[in-house]
Amino acid sequence: MSNDELKHKMRPESLMMSYGYKPELSEGAIKCPIFQTSTFVFKSAEEGKGFFEIAYGLREKGPTEEMGLIYSRLNNPDLEILENRLTLWDGAEDCAVFESGMSAISTVMLEFLSPGDYVLYSNPLYGGTYHFVKAVLSRFGIHSMAFNAHESEANIDKLIQENGIQDKVKMIYIETPANPTNALVDMEACAKLAKKYSTEDSQVIFAVDNTYMGPLWSQPLKHGADVVVYSATKYIGGHSDLIAGAVLGNQEVITRVKTLRTFLGNMAGPWTGWLLMRSLETLKVRMTEQAMNAKKVAEFLRDHPKVAKVHYLGFLTEEADPENYRIFKKQLTSAGAMISFDIKGGEAEAFRFLNALQLIHLAVSLGSTESLAEHPSTMTHSDVTPEDKALYGISDALVRLSIGVENYEDLNSDIGQALDKV
Ligand SMILES: *Cc1c(COP(=O)(O)O)cnc(C)c1O
Repeated sequence: MSNDELKHKMRPESLMMSYGYKPELSEGAIKCPIFQTSTFVFKSAEEGKGFFEIAYGLREKGPTEEMGLIYSRLNNPDLEILENRLTLWDGAEDCAVFESGMSAISTVMLEFLSPGDYVLYSNPLYGGTYHFVKAVLSRFGIHSMAFNAHESEANIDKLIQENGIQDKVKMIYIETPANPTNALVDMEACAKLAKKYSTEDSQVIFAVDNTYMGPLWSQPLKHGADVVVYSATKYIGGHSDLIAGAVLGNQEVITRVKTLRTFLGNMAGPWTGWLLMRSLETLKVRMTEQAMNAKKVAEFLRDHPKVAKVHYLGFLTEEADPENYRIFKKQLTSAGAMISFDIKGGEAEAFRFLNALQLIHLAVSLGSTESLAEHPSTMTHSDVTPEDKALYGISDALVRLSIGVENYEDLNSDIGQALDKV
């Protein structure tokens, strides 16, 4: 069966071991080898000329012509097969992988924004992204404006109009759910606004950082996003042993992103590509187990006398929070495996809890097989202003957990014994 036929017949988890790889091109090896090579030998000078004409866009690819391998900054089998597999989860036409989530994000912003443009983003953002927007893009004359996760379509529109940036907003960039509080942003509302302010010759790009929920539980392209970005360091990599990023979208978008990637030279290396293919084979199994464990941990925390409040999407109810509940039902298929909770007390109590954990590790990052705990206020979100911390609920009592694949009873007994020491 051809790749195209397979893609339409089978589910992604069935294709993660084989899609896009031809054993006969690699001595029959069942697994794609690591193509640890910088350059590739052309069969003839004519062939080399042809590859370069296509790579540099000097002419269109012929109907039966295949783009050949040139040089590992432009293309490499480990990256190409990985990119093909990643498209399956998000239902994307194409994908570009990067050496980090930050390089994926910064390349997307540099490609689609020019001096004088505005990027409208949801607050709070991942700290690295926030810094890039505020401290780096601003040096190139690219402006930014924030709206709070939760804000209605009408209010975001009002923000655009009242600030007179109707002609200048060129990107809407969101994270949903927001880190660390799990506040949700309505993707369809953002997609509508991006359309509204797009003109025939200037598209407003709607980009979603899907690191927290993707690719299994959230597929933003189906809700009107033009670009999806990932820190593949998190769930996609899933073993805390690599740093990588990915960008997905239609052919036109990804061709532009890949072209800039060629000149920034921030593609992932073959070894990282190979590790990510290994990771994709178990992606669904891992994430499914993690989400199941997270539910058990959230329920344990909710009933614990030393816990003031648990922030977990699975606890949303139509009665208490109809707007978030509506968005949750529309755009997510799981409550995910990220939980945060307010311990009774403040920093001292939170630290006593973190220092007493035995099975769960005290570390930032998320989405991996092992469970991790951290203190957002003094760690991942330490540079957020006190006003914004208050606004987003990032208090000194807040602890963030990323739930792994351990047995949930062991996780709960570890959390229980650590809470006992508080
Ligand atoms: C980790 C993370 C990033 C940055 O990714 P790196 O792989 O560390 O460069 C971006 N966005 C979110 C939501 C993240 O969690």
